[in-house]
Amino acid sequence: MELPDSYRAACLIGPEQLEIRRLALPRPGPGELTLRVDVATTCGTDLKVFKQGGHPRMLQVPTPFGHECAGTVAAVGDEVEAWRPGDAVVVLNSASCGSCRYCANGRENLCRDLLYLNGTFAEYLPVPARFVTRSTYRKPPELSSEHACLTEPLACVLHGIETCSLSEPRDVVVLGGGPIGQLLLGVLSAAGHRVVLADPLAARREIASQMGAVATIEPPEAATPAAILPLAEDSLGFDLAIDATGSVAGWELATQCIQPGGEVLFFGGCPAGTRISLDTARIHYDEIVFRGSYHHRPATASRALDLLARQGLAVDLLLSREMPLEQTEEALRSMRRRESLKVVIRPAG
Ligand SMILES: [Zn+2]
Ligand SMILES: [Zn+2]
Repeated sequence: MELPDSYRAACLIGPEQLEIRRLALPRPGPGELTLRVDVATTCGTDLKVFKQGGHPRMLQVPTPFGHECAGTVAAVGDEVEAWRPGDAVVVLNSASCGSCRYCANGRENLCRDLLYLNGTFAEYLPVPARFVTRSTYRKPPELSSEHACLTEPLACVLHGIETCSLSEPRDVVVLGGGPIGQLLLGVLSAAGHRVVLADPLAARREIASQMGAVATIEPPEAATPAAILPLAEDSLGFDLAIDATGSVAGWELATQCIQPGGEVLFFGGCPAGTRISLDTARIHYDEIVFRGSYHHRPATASRALDLLARQGLAVDLLLSREMPLEQTEEALRSMRRRESLKVVIRPAG
C-alpha cells in the first residue's frame, strides 16, 4: 500500500469547533504502524469532549479527533513483527504501561501511565509503538468493520458488568438509553438477567425493547424512585441499578432504586467537580454496594471482539446513520440533538 504524503483529519480546535485539516503523514518509525481508517464511529465521549473543547486526560487541542475505528494496516515500521500491510485490525484508544502495580494485577484501566490515542475521524491514523504491541487486535474476517468499531465501547461495558455480582439472574434497571445504556442492556439481557431501561426518548425506548428490555419507562420530568420502583420484580427495588446518563440526577436516582443488599454501578462519567448526596442510613442498614467503572482492559477488549464476531447483539440498532468525513461535526451535532445514537464515518468516502 502506497502511503500519501498527507491526509485529511477532522481536528478538534476548541469548544464545539471541528475543522477538516490536511496533515503531513509521517512514515512509521521503529515499532510503529500506519493505519488506513476504513470506518470510525462517534461516541458519547466524543460529544462530551467536543462540547468542552478538550479533555485534561485524553487530548490537547488542536488534535485529530475520534477514538473508535477499524482499519487496514497501510505500512509498518522496523521491528514490527506481528502486523503486515493489508491486515484488518482494530486499534483501541488507550495503551497501558504493562509494568505498574495496576497493570500487574490485571487492572490496566487504572494504569498510572495510560496513554490515549485520538484521531480516528481521519483517512489515516499513525499508531505509536505501545499501541501496536498492546492495543492492536486482529479483526475476525466474519466481523464487519462497522461492528468492529464497537469493540471499544463494548469493552468498557463488559468491564463494568464484570465488576458486579451477577452469578445468578438479577433484576436490573439501566438509567439512560444512549449507546452505552443500550449495550449494557443488551449484554445483561443476553446473559439472562431481567433488565428495565429508563429514557425520556421514545425512539431509544423502542430500541431498548429490541435489545431485550423486559420493560421501558419514560422518566417524568423529575425522575423519581416512585416512578421506577413499580417496574422492579420485588417491591423493595432492583438488585442492580446502573447509571448510564453521566448526570448527577442519574447517579442519585440509581442509589434510590435499589433493594437492601443491592448494588449500584456508576458507569456514566459526570461533569468534573460534581458531587452527589447519599442517604447514609441506606448504605449502613441496607448494605448497599457502590461501584465506579472506568474504561476497559485488554481482557475485556478481547471478549468484546469475540462477542461482536459471534453477532450475539443487535448492534446495528445503535448505528443510526452514515456520514462522510467532512460531516463529522454535523454527526456530533446530530447526537447532541439526540437524533443519532452513533454515526458511522467513512473517512475514505
Ligand atoms: Zn467510545
Ligand atoms: Zn500500568
